[in-house]
Amino acid sequence: MPAQVRTSGARTAESASTEWLKDENARTQRSALCCMRAAMKFPIQIVSTDFDGTFHTDFEDPPVPRVLEDLIASLQAKGVTWVINTGRDLSSLIVALGRAQLSIWPDYVVIVEREIYRREDSQYVDLETWNTKCKSAHEKVFVQLREDLPRLVEWIRSRFQATIYEDSYSPFCLIAQNNGHADVIHEYLNDYCRGIPNLAYVRNDVYARFSHAAYNKGSALAEIGRRLCVGPDQIVAAGDHLNDLPMLSLDYARWLIAPRNAVDAVKLTVRRQCGYVSDLPHGYGVADGLEVVLKSLAADPVSSEVSGL
Ligand SMILES: [Mg+2]
Repeated sequence: MPAQVRTSGARTAESASTEWLKDENARTQRSALCCMRAAMKFPIQIVSTDFDGTFHTDFEDPPVPRVLEDLIASLQAKGVTWVINTGRDLSSLIVALGRAQLSIWPDYVVIVEREIYRREDSQYVDLETWNTKCKSAHEKVFVQLREDLPRLVEWIRSRFQATIYEDSYSPFCLIAQNNGHADVIHEYLNDYCRGIPNLAYVRNDVYARFSHAAYNKGSALAEIGRRLCVGPDQIVAAGDHLNDLPMLSLDYARWLIAPRNAVDAVKLTVRRQCGYVSDLPHGYGVADGLEVVLKSLAADPVSSEVSGL
C-alpha cells in the first residue's frame, strides 16, 4: 500500500485507497492488453505472390521494384511468411531470383504450381510428404492420358504451329505460337479433361500442361497454411494469369491482389471477391495492393492496436 495512506487522516486514506484501486485496475488492463498482444499475431501471416508478371518482370530494370522488395522485407521482419507461388521449376526460379540480386528470399516456394519447398539454411528443402503424395497422384492421372496423347497431339499439329513436349512434370507440355492459338487449344483440351477424372489443363499465357486437378497454387498455399497453423483469413494472394486463379479465391486468402497487367479473367475473379485490382503494373501493382491492405488494417482499431500499425 502507498506510504501516504499510512501517514494521512481517514479522508485522505480513503482518497488514496481509491487512487490505488484505479492504479491496480490500470495495471490489470495493461497486463490483459499485453496478454492479448502476445496471443494475437500480426493480422497478415502469409503473403503468396506469383512470380512472372506479378512479383518479377524480366523486361524491367530492376525486375523487382525496390518498393515491393522493401515492403516484403518489412513484412518478413514482422514474422510474415513470404511464398513465391509459380509455374516455374525450382532451378529456373532460383536462377531468376539470383540474377535479380534481391535482399530477400522467399520462406517457401511452390513450383510448377504444385510442389512445395521450404527455405532452410540458404537452401530449398523438399516438403517430402506433400511432394511424394503429389507425384504419386500425378503418375496415376497421367496413366489415363497416355493412350489418348497421340490423338490430341495430332489434332493440335494439324491446325497450329505449336511446340509440344514431355518433361519430368507432365507428359504433355505446350508452347503455342500466340494467345489466339492458345485459346482454341485450351478450349479443346479443357473439353477433353472433362472426360478424365482429376485431369486439369493448366495454362499461363502461351504455356500449358496437363496436371492433377487437386494440386494447384491454391491447394499448395492451403498446405503451407496448414503446416504453419495459418488460416485463409491471415493470407494475402497476388497473381496475374490463369494459373493463379486457384489461389485467387477467398477459400485460400482473405486479401486478393491483381496488378494492372493481369488478364481479364483474373481481374474479374479478384473484383468479384472484393479484392484489389491495381492501376499499376507488375510488382508496382502488388506493392500498391499490399499498401492498401496495410492501410485498411491500420484504420481498424483492433488490428492496429495488436500489430502496431
Ligand atoms: Mg504470372
